[in-house]
Amino acid sequence: MNRELTCIVCPMGCRLTVELDGKEVVSVSGNTCKRGEVYAKSECTNPVRVITTTVRTKNGKILPVKTDKPVPKELMADCMKVINGLCPDCNGEFSMGKIICENILDTGANIVVAGK
Ligand code: SF4
Repeated sequence: MNRELTCIVCPMGCRLTVELDGKEVVSVSGNTCKRGEVYAKSECTNPVRVITTTVRTKNGKILPVKTDKPVPKELMADCMKVINGLCPDCNGEFSMGKIICENILDTGANIVVAGK
């Protein structure tokens, strides 16, 4: 079975064809560089995503946040439930990269401040 993907690693957006034998990746074609092959294999065996969103602080400020590493795609909705329940106490400024939730859902990823 073949699976068609668009590589999202860089703006070139190469069209990838992944040959699968069940859940095993047999080959990847269409990639211009090695990163596309790595992406295709990950996407077909253990897809992951960085979550980028916002939370509302206790004083009503909207704070951009993100995971500091990709989390399994299948856990994104559950992670969002946790993130939506966060209400950090911010009476001033949070510095970029400040952790506001550690090891979300035991993924090893932290939720960090991504902007001001
Ligand atoms: S295969 Fe390489 S060049 Fe093509 S989109 Fe992916 S990262 Fe970019």
